[in-house]
Amino acid sequence: MAYDQNNIFARIIRGEIPCAKVYEDDLTLAFSDIDPKAPVHVLVIPKGAYVSMNDFHEHASDAEIAAVTRAVGKVAKITGVDKTGYRLIANNGADGNQEVPHLHLHVLGGRHLGGMVKKPEPA
Ligand code: AMP
Repeated sequence: MAYDQNNIFARIIRGEIPCAKVYEDDLTLAFSDIDPKAPVHVLVIPKGAYVSMNDFHEHASDAEIAAVTRAVGKVAKITGVDKTGYRLIANNGADGNQEVPHLHLHVLGGRHLGGMVKKPEPA
């Protein structure tokens, strides 16, 4: 899938759309999710143009990959969930129900989040 330069997160990186910034460095940006599913719900994104985790793993530099991981750690500290626990989610592609085609990691916390993924009801 080709990268869409006009996806909503590309526009946030370019400053065309505002965001509630939590953390930024040369390679990453983190901002609050507009529709939070938990008291802490922050999205961590690389500034580079990567559609998905597949794209990121294949094409990002080691520095970019390290920066995203470090940004998650910074966000956890800034929001306090490093002490209480949190969940990281990266929805990837169709079965992952990825809605925005720019790689993002959800950092969720601030309450107990329950089980990971619901099993389907038995038929
Ligand atoms: P995903 O389903 O993993 O692609 O998640 C996309 C996330 O982006 C959703 O949780 C949305 O609420 C969030 N989102 C969409 N537009 C914005 C925006 N302008 N600012 C912050 N979060 C957004």
